[in-house]
Amino acid sequence: MKSFQVQTQTRNQLVDITAQVQEALRELGATDGVCTVFCPHTTAAITINENADPDVCRDWLENLNRLVPAHQDYYRHGEGNSDSHVKSSLVGASEQVIVENGKLQLGTWQSIYFAEFDGSRTRTVHIKFVST
Ligand code: ZN
Repeated sequence: MKSFQVQTQTRNQLVDITAQVQEALRELGATDGVCTVFCPHTTAAITINENADPDVCRDWLENLNRLVPAHQDYYRHGEGNSDSHVKSSLVGASEQVIVENGKLQLGTWQSIYFAEFDGSRTRTVHIKFVST
């Protein structure tokens, strides 16, 4: 396993971590197999989406914020970040990507994103490669 840190800047943010995942695979000596990208936090997530138009990430976050509002009268969780916990589960803690010759088999317009829902914080991402 390999891990790296991600420094987020705002409460809700998508950070492109594709280059760091690819570098972790190089350090692991990955060849052919499957890479799991895992987020060990309950108020953040991992997702894959478009990297060409930055408005895609902006609209993605805006829609998620409207689906799961930050403040509601019925929230009971004392930390005040109930929305962050819901978004974390909706988006999911991990993604799996096929690796061939050590290279992530992402589509042309795909990137792997760390999704922050309770920043700013220093976060950790775990990378596990399994040869097949
Ligand atoms: Zn909490």
